Amino acid sequence: MAYYDSLTGLPNKNNLNEWLALQMKEPEAASRVGTAFFVDLDQLKLVNDAYGHNFGDKVIVTASTRIALSAGENFFIARVGGDEFVAVVQGKLTNEQVKGIAKKIIRNLGKRQEHVGISIHITASIGIAKYPEDGSTAEEILKNAENAMYKAKKQGRNGYKFYSKELQYEAYTDLRLIEGLRYAIERKELSLVYQPQILLPQKTVKGVEALLRWNSREYGNVSPARFIPLAEQAGVINSIGKWVLHEACSFAGRLAENGYADVRVAVNISARQVASDDFVRTLCNAVKTAGILPKQLEIEITESLLMASLDEAICKLNKSKALGFGLALDDFGTGYSSLTYLRKLPVETIKIDKSFIDMIENDIPGAKMIGAIINMANAINMTVVAEGVETERQLAYLVKEGCSCVQGYFFSKPLKEKAAYKFIQTYNKGL
Ligand code: C2E
Ligand code: MG
Ligand code: MG
Repeated sequence: MAYYDSLTGLPNKNNLNEWLALQMKEPEAASRVGTAFFVDLDQLKLVNDAYGHNFGDKVIVTASTRIALSAGENFFIARVGGDEFVAVVQGKLTNEQVKGIAKKIIRNLGKRQEHVGISIHITASIGIAKYPEDGSTAEEILKNAENAMYKAKKQGRNGYKFYSKELQYEAYTDLRLIEGLRYAIERKELSLVYQPQILLPQKTVKGVEALLRWNSREYGNVSPARFIPLAEQAGVINSIGKWVLHEACSFAGRLAENGYADVRVAVNISARQVASDDFVRTLCNAVKTAGILPKQLEIEITESLLMASLDEAICKLNKSKALGFGLALDDFGTGYSSLTYLRKLPVETIKIDKSFIDMIENDIPGAKMIGAIINMANAINMTVVAEGVETERQLAYLVKEGCSCVQGYFFSKPLKEKAAYKFIQTYNKGL
């Protein structure tokens, strides 16, 4: 069994495991104490793709020396994967000292490096586990440090995270929830609620947004903010998304049958749905099965979702638009809002995120920005929907600034189909 990594000359994973196992069994109590830093270079794949593997190798070697330099005295460092290192610092350290080391590693790794005339900066994510408290075997310590590293990555990269029991519990619950989601459709645990969007100043219902609810047999009601990202991560979002489309379109069909063909049903669509090969076909099938026109369906997309393969997404969205589907940009103002981006996307509606609407009453510059967004949207003939409107004062401000459509608890919470239908009947009487 080879013990050393040929590129960096560092010990490898097996060597690290054996060494740590020995340390943890030392007769001297003071020797059985230490901290493992699991360091993962962020997006090294991109570097490899952009400049080739030789260049990537140089970045890895530089990283190994920089980690060693940052770890201080009494450390053991190993390369455990392509772009993964573990540094174990022996001896008892305070949390402050551990944080100090993690920050130093991140700082040093982040400094500029230059190879063959190309200069780049890289970042890293670090997970930290201490022994003996975070595990009784070397494998456990390294696994826990690695899990903490994934958490650090999930929280936006270029940072560090300590392992904790809660973290392990969270990972466990995530897995259980994902397992539950796989059966949610056949167990009939999913349902949709509809939140009205009100046209101003006439106060009629322009449309409704379909919002997914999951009443799990094991976990009760789980919020979409919790389960949608898991469904995306696990790839179950495509089948769930199809179910949502189908349900929402059949409601739109019932609305049309009752004379409300002008009330649009908006559906949230995830990045992975847009990315799937049959995205446009799925939309067409959904409206065809329900016997509605594409213009009765509006798809809500978020800015961040499109970042990955923008050109491909734009092409599919253009097709959808040409077929008559409505297109709205959700959560505007959060994430990567860029005007160029807004210009490129074939959307006709932008939805201002609730976090902005919350500023109206106590943040004057924030409120002025909303005014500016509405003005800009009106100037380029886009409709603005203000989301999360809860108070009369917010509503008055939005009307004054020229916002023509609002959605929020002030008018209505999301409603079950029957109640949503009644709401529409009441507001759109005589239309
Ligand atoms: P979103 O699309 O931005 O939906 C608006 C969220 O704001 C909804 O939360 C809605 O209930 C909430 N909301 C509306 N008005 C108010 C208000 O006045 N006050 C407060 N506090 N909240 C208000 P919900 O239903 O929990 O959905 C959260 C997010 O989950 C949605 O944000 C959307 O991104 C996602 N989501 C929901 N259903 C689906 C779905 O079928 N597919 C996908 N991909 N995502 C979905
Ligand atoms: Mg939405
Ligand atoms: Mg939104």
